[in-house]
Amino acid sequence: MTPIVAIVGRPNVGKSTLFNRWAGAKLAIVHDAPGVTRDRHYADTILQGRKLTLIDTGGFDPNSEDPMQQGITRQVQAAIAEADVVVCLLDGLTAPTAADSQAVRLLRQSDKPCLFVANRVDNAAQVDQSLDLYRLGVDHIFAISALHGRGMAELETAICKGLPRTSEPEEIADNPIPRIALVGRPNAGKSSLLNRLAGGERSLVDSRPGTTRDPIDVDLEIDGHRYQVVDTAGIRRKSKVDEAVELESIMRAIRSVERAHVAVLVCDITQGIAEQDQRLLGLCMDRNRALLVALNKCDLLNKDEQKARLKIAADALHFAKWVRVVPMSVKSGFGVKDLMSDVRQVFTQFGQRVPTGELNRFFAEVLERKSPPTQGGRAPRLYYLTQVSSAPPVFVAMCSYADKIKESYKRFVINQLRVRFGFDSVPIVLHFRERSRKER
Ligand code: GDP
Ligand code: GDP
Repeated sequence: MTPIVAIVGRPNVGKSTLFNRWAGAKLAIVHDAPGVTRDRHYADTILQGRKLTLIDTGGFDPNSEDPMQQGITRQVQAAIAEADVVVCLLDGLTAPTAADSQAVRLLRQSDKPCLFVANRVDNAAQVDQSLDLYRLGVDHIFAISALHGRGMAELETAICKGLPRTSEPEEIADNPIPRIALVGRPNAGKSSLLNRLAGGERSLVDSRPGTTRDPIDVDLEIDGHRYQVVDTAGIRRKSKVDEAVELESIMRAIRSVERAHVAVLVCDITQGIAEQDQRLLGLCMDRNRALLVALNKCDLLNKDEQKARLKIAADALHFAKWVRVVPMSVKSGFGVKDLMSDVRQVFTQFGQRVPTGELNRFFAEVLERKSPPTQGGRAPRLYYLTQVSSAPPVFVAMCSYADKIKESYKRFVINQLRVRFGFDSVPIVLHFRERSRKER
C-alpha cells in the first residue's frame, strides 16, 4: 500500500512548484489510455527510495482564491482525514497570516505527522526572514526553495521518517476472496450499497480496528460467496465539507483502490459519468485494477430513459470500452445481484493465468491475421508471448525492434487477448521486449 503525502497551504506559496519538483523526477504513473481526464494533482513518485503518492491539495479546491481561510481549512481537514504525512507549505518571506495560523492550529491538534515548511528561502540570507514563522508556535520549520531545490534533502528525510511501514499486497492464491473498493462521487449511493450488501448478511465484521489511520475492511458473505469491501471508513463517514469532497474522494480512492482487486465506480444514472468520475476511473486504470461501473438509482428513470442514459454513459467511457457497465438500483435491489456476480467473474479473470502453450497458438493466429506494420524500413518480428504475472495480468511479447511497434498494434493485440481469453472488465498490461542478440 502506497502512503499518501499531501501538500497543503495558501494559494501562491509554491505548492505546485514543490509538487512538480517531486513528481517530475520519477513519475511512476504510466498514462496510456487516450481520452481520459487525467489529474495532474496527484502523482506516484519516489523520494529517497520510498514509493509514495503525492497530492497537491491546492489543485482541488475550486474556491482557493475565494475566502482564503475557508479554502485552506478544507484542504487541511481533508488532508488530516486521508493523508499519511502532511506538508504544510508557508511563505518564508512574508509574515504569517490568519489563514496560516488556522491551518497550523488544525494540524497541530491532529495526530498526523505534519511538517511545517517555509518556502521561497532561495538563499542563506533569507533564512533569517523565515524565522518570523516561528511565531506560529511550531517546533521546527524547514527552510526550502521549491524553485531552486534548496533544503530539499532534509525535508525529504523527515517525510520518509513519518511514513508508515508498507506491506506488500498478498497474492490472490493466498487469499482467493475478491477485495472490492467502492469509489464514486458523494451521494452516488456507496454507503447505501454497502448497507444493502451487509444487511442481508449474518456476520458483518470489521476485520480491522479503526483508528483514524487504519483502513476498515468489511467482510461479507452473500449467497455463499465471500467478499471483502476495503477501506469503508471513508464511505461511512459523511463529509460535511462540500468543497473538499473531491479531494477527499480522490485520496480515499487512491487508498482503497490500491488495496483492492476490483474497483466499483458507483455513479448516479441521473447525473451520468462526470469529469470527476472519469478522474476516478483514470486512477483505477493507472493502478491496473479490474473495474466495474455501477449506474445506480435506475428506479428514478423509466426503461426508455435508462436506455438513453446507458448509451450516454457508454460514450463517456470511450477510452475504456472494456469496462462493464451495470445498471442498478440499491433502493429497489435491481441489478445488485448482477453486480456481485460480475465482481466474481472479473475477479476470476483478473487472477487468470494463461499457459504459454495456449498463448503461443493464439499468437500465431494473431500474427497471421495482422503482423506489426513496418516502420522506417524495419519490420519488427514477434517471437513469442508469455504471461509474466496475474492480478493484474501482465504479458510480455519478445520481439525485434520493440521501439518500432506502434501503440495501435499493441492495442490490437490487447483486444485480441481480451476476446480470446475472456479478459473482460480487466486491465491488460502488454510489454514488447527485445531479445538480446545472444538470445535470438
Ligand atoms: P501554489 O499556488 O501554492 O501552487 O504556488 P505555485 O507553485 O504556483 O507558486 C507561485 C509562484 O511562486 C510561482 O511564480 C513560482 O514560480 C514561485 N515560487 C515557488 N517556489 C518558489 C521558490 O522557492 N522561490 C521563489 N523565488 N519563487 C518560488
Ligand atoms: P454515498 O455518498 O455515495 O455514500 O451515497 P449514499 O449511499 O449516502 O446515498 C445518497 C442518497 O441517495 C441517499 O439519500 C440515498 O438514500 C439515495 N440513494 C442511494 N441509492 C439509491 C437508489 O438506488 N435509488 C434512489 N432513488 N435513491 C438512492
